[in-house]
Amino acid sequence: MNKRVLVAGGAGYIGSHTVVELTKAGFEVVIVDNFSNSDPSSLDGIRKITGIEPIFVEADCCDKEAMRRVFERYDFDSVIHFAAFKAVGESVAEPMKYYRNNLLSFVTILELMKEYGRHNVVFSSSATVYGDAEVLPVTELTPRKPATSPYGATKQMSEDILRDMVFATEGLNGIALRYFNPIGAHPSALIGELPRGVPNNLVPYITQTAAGIRECLSIFGDDYPTPDGSCLRDYIDIVDLARAHVVAIERMVEGRNKERYEVFNVGTGRPVSVFELVKGFEAANELKLNYKVAARRAGDVTAVWADTTLANEELGWRAERELNDTLRAAWEWEKYVRGNK
Ligand code: UDP
Repeated sequence: MNKRVLVAGGAGYIGSHTVVELTKAGFEVVIVDNFSNSDPSSLDGIRKITGIEPIFVEADCCDKEAMRRVFERYDFDSVIHFAAFKAVGESVAEPMKYYRNNLLSFVTILELMKEYGRHNVVFSSSATVYGDAEVLPVTELTPRKPATSPYGATKQMSEDILRDMVFATEGLNGIALRYFNPIGAHPSALIGELPRGVPNNLVPYITQTAAGIRECLSIFGDDYPTPDGSCLRDYIDIVDLARAHVVAIERMVEGRNKERYEVFNVGTGRPVSVFELVKGFEAANELKLNYKVAARRAGDVTAVWADTTLANEELGWRAERELNDTLRAAWEWEKYVRGNK
């Protein structure tokens, strides 16, 4: 069994946690990253947690010649592709940045996988492909909705590119993992999320508010048709999410995949409101957060959460970490980052 994996974007938030879980499961990892939205310090964190110096190549995944050298040098049989931009608002303002980077990096990797006869690929997709779903929770068969941002469009297009390439390439297997809302940090507090500038996502905004970097958290809307009026999401712990990648790779490496292209939701299956998350953060960390209710944010859907039956049954995977622990880890990480600045 070839237990070597190329992790494109392995210095980033989800990538770095996945590298740790892969290493723990006995995989040898080659990381490629250009630090366009990540920091070299994550490599130190990976080393401290695993005790192993990860193989690292600094390269842009869109640079085919640089990537060719990686394929020439290392004989991994599997690839996990994280190397993509992820800010919805920025993608609306700069669509070409998203189409160029997110699509070209994936096309480049898939072409090289075909050329070099590499077999298994996991793609980072997103619950954003479901848009404002009519029936909740969403299953993998819930129809995708037209994307409302270039970011969302790149996720849908990349799923289609993967599906088409798998069917056109003998021996190639693909799994798209549709992430819900990844939050938290490694329990060691040695790796975590490093948002640049003002965070868009809820949990980094909460931790920065608790740290005094942001004055006040705005809760975007308390007049949604939900039990407490705030939006409902499915917050998945980052370590649980990372483990889903390991089992997806193992499924393909061991030939247990039922189709050559498969899609799985990766969430907890439990809807949590913004108010619940804020109160949960306060309780878990025994502190008070400065927050206020503000207007709805354009583009937010009222509610989305996962039906995780397929991942539970087929991957043998389920979310295990308690929200409490996840919110504690998020705060520990924020304090660690501040202490190191
Ligand atoms: N949210 C909020 N205040 C913030 C950031 C987010 O109230 O400063 C809400 C947002 O409206 C949504 C939820 O938190 O209901 C999760 O938002 P996030 O941007 O983290 O993820 P999304 O679900 O939009 O991908």
